[in-house]
This record gives sequence, C-alpha cells and structure tokens, in this order.
Amino acid sequence: MRISILGSTGSIGRQTLDVARNLAGCEVVALTANSSIDLLAKQTAEFRPSLVVCGDAAGAKELQSRLGRGIEIMHGMDGLIAAANISETDTVVNALVGNIGLKPTHSAILAGKKIALANKETLVTAGELLMPMLAANNAEILPVDSEHSAIFQCLQGAANNPIRRLILAGSGGPFRGMTAAQLENVTIDQALAHPKWSMGKKISIDSATLMNKGLEAIEAARLFAMPAEKIHVVIHPQSIIHSAIEFDDGAILAQMSFPDMTQPIQYALTYPNRHPLPSPQYLDLFAQNLTFQPPDTQTFPCLALALDALKTGGYMPTVLNAANEVAVDKFLSGQLDFNNIPKFVESAMNDFAKKTNIDELIIDNILTIDHFYRHEHFNRSEG
Ligand code: NAD
Ligand code: MG
Repeated sequence: MRISILGSTGSIGRQTLDVARNLAGCEVVALTANSSIDLLAKQTAEFRPSLVVCGDAAGAKELQSRLGRGIEIMHGMDGLIAAANISETDTVVNALVGNIGLKPTHSAILAGKKIALANKETLVTAGELLMPMLAANNAEILPVDSEHSAIFQCLQGAANNPIRRLILAGSGGPFRGMTAAQLENVTIDQALAHPKWSMGKKISIDSATLMNKGLEAIEAARLFAMPAEKIHVVIHPQSIIHSAIEFDDGAILAQMSFPDMTQPIQYALTYPNRHPLPSPQYLDLFAQNLTFQPPDTQTFPCLALALDALKTGGYMPTVLNAANEVAVDKFLSGQLDFNNIPKFVESAMNDFAKKTNIDELIIDNILTIDHFYRHEHFNRSEG
C-alpha cells in the first residue's frame, strides 16, 4: 500500500503515521503540512516520501535547505493537488482541516484514488457533487471520522437490507448539561478541553458548539445517501458506541471500541481486513456504564442550523460551513463570544436564503459562495 497524507502534522495526520509505522508494506509517498516545518522535516527524515508539500514559498525554501536531494518540494494548493493525484499513491489520506481539502479531494477522485477521508468539511460543502463522481472515476471514499467509520463497519453486516435510521452518536462535548447563560462566559481553553478526544483546535470548538455533530449529520447523509429524517443524533457521553444502524425489524447494529482514532484510521487503510494496532486498547466491559440522551438544540443551536442546512440542501451547507469556519477562527482569536458562533452562522444562512437560487451545483459555484461567506459577507455587514 502506498499512501499520501495531506495534513501529516495534525492530530489525524500524526496518528496516521503511527498506523503506517506499524503496518507491514505501507509506504508513505507524500507528506504535506501548512506551517509546522520542523515536524514535517522530522517526518520526512523518517518516512522518506518522494514529495513534500508545505503552505508557502518561505517554508519550501526552509525545507529545501534541510532535506537531502531526491525529494521533491512544493507549496500551496498546487502542492496539495500534486500529493493527492501523484501516480505512485493508491490511497490518499485527507487529514486537512477546512474547505481547503476540497480541491485535493476532487483531484484524487479524478485520478481514481482510494481516499481515506477525515476532512469532513469537504463532504459538507461539496458532498452532493463529489459522491456521484466516485463510481465513474473508479475512486472510493473510506470514512475516517469515528462515527462514519462505525456506520461503515456496521454496514458490512447489513447485506443490503434497507436502513430505517442512522444513529449518530456524540459525546455532547465539554459543555454538555450547561445552560445558555452559563455558556456566556466560557473561555477558549475551556472550549478546547474535550472530555474524550484530543483533537485539532477547529474540531474541538465544533465539538463544544455541537456544530461538529451537525457537520457529521451532513457528512453521513452524503456518504450513505440518507435523507435528513433518517439521521438521529444521540448524546452518549462515554463515547464507547461510536454510531449504529437500525433495520426495519427493529434490530440495531452498533460499533463499540475504546475511543481511539487509530482504529478507524487503520480500518480505512486496510478495509476489509483488520490488523492489530500499535497499542491496542481493549474495552473492559465491566467498567462501562452506557447512557443515552437527546441533544439540547436550544442551548446548542449550531446542531439545529446544520440539520436545517441539510434539509435545504443545494449550497446551504456550503454557506453554513464557510460561516462556521470564520466564526471558529474569530472565537479562537478572541473576537467572538461562544454564544455568538451560532448567531454568526445563522446570519449568513438567512442572507443566503434571501438570494434567488443559483441553479446548477458545480465546483466553481461552491468555491465562489464559500469565498463570499468567508471573506466578503461579514466585512460588508460590519462596514
Ligand atoms: P489539525 O488542525 O490537528 O491538523 C490539520 C492539518 O492540516 C495540519 O497538518 C495542518 O498543517 C494542515 N493544514 C491546515 N490548514 C492548512 C492550509 N491552509 N494549507 C495546507 N495545510 C493546512 O486537525 P485535525 O484535528 O487532525 O482534523 C483534521 C480533519 O479531520 C478535520 O476535518 C476534522 O474535522 C477531522 N477529524 C478529526 C478528528 C480528530 O480526532 N482530530 C476526528 C474526526 C475527524
Ligand atoms: Mg467524529
């Protein structure tokens, strides 16, 4: 197996390298990072890829001075696309965060690659367009997100029987049980401190607002061709059941495991086979007490907004995603309070709802709309 890892210095990227290190016959062909040049150079020295990509020209120059000959160095979007469609690779792990992952995924599909996809924003913003392209290009998307991997693992036992409900599990994040008034004063550090998973900053904030569960509902709808009404979000604070499927006869198949992303990452790489993990953590069933509760969409309106965007379809998920990426950046830089994140996203969605529908769903329109709600809409409304 030959893999490219887009975003190798991030949380999923580093765990993918842990898996690769342990997996016989797994060769790393390309590595990419934005600005973590030290770590990227270290990873390159260990895995000897033929292509290394960083965010900008200054980083590429720095890498050039540190790496030996025989390794091609590129930067920016051209580099990400080259790493995604490089001929030596059969599997592209997309561990980028945000809509930046869209073009590389698109080009990996056109090149007929297997794509182990962690980058959920790509499916949210353009899944309706990308999923139908897979078959024609002999490409495949294998989910890395733990809930979607769980559903995918359960579907192996479904024998094509119709699915009545997808049960999408979520821990509820660090603020589960709090009131809107209590959320008024939460700090950035409190929002980043997830009780069950250690992850990148953007997804950690999305988990605190429950936007992550909303993005995952859209991701599930796209991956498994399910309508919004059949996707049920269930808060399960222990994060032992990662998600489930229900059949017409009432039977539910669920996937359970210790919460550790190396399990779904490795399954995406080795599907349909399973291998021992570098440090397998087996569940002590006698130590578990599994509970389930409905999500509180009054206190955490981001989930309701995402479910609305899914029902509206078309470009609305693109608008939701772009506004949310901006809102999370603003929260992380202290420019927006926690409770204003959903208000910010809702204002973009309300603005878009007033526009006459742009008919054809194409990549260029997605990129134009994404750009507008990322860079122009709020500057205009602020100005
Ligand atoms: P992260 O922030 O830890 O890592 C992101 C990676 O993308 C880094 O390597 C960074 O260098 C690179 N990157 C960021 N911006 C870039 C840019 N403009 N150009 C080029 N490279 C850029 O994020 P993460 O937590 O690993 O999450 C990655 C994706 O996986 C996200 O979509 C997230 O929602 C999803 N995901 C993560 C987890 C998790 O446990 N971390 C679980 C499920 C899904
Ligand atoms: Mg998830």
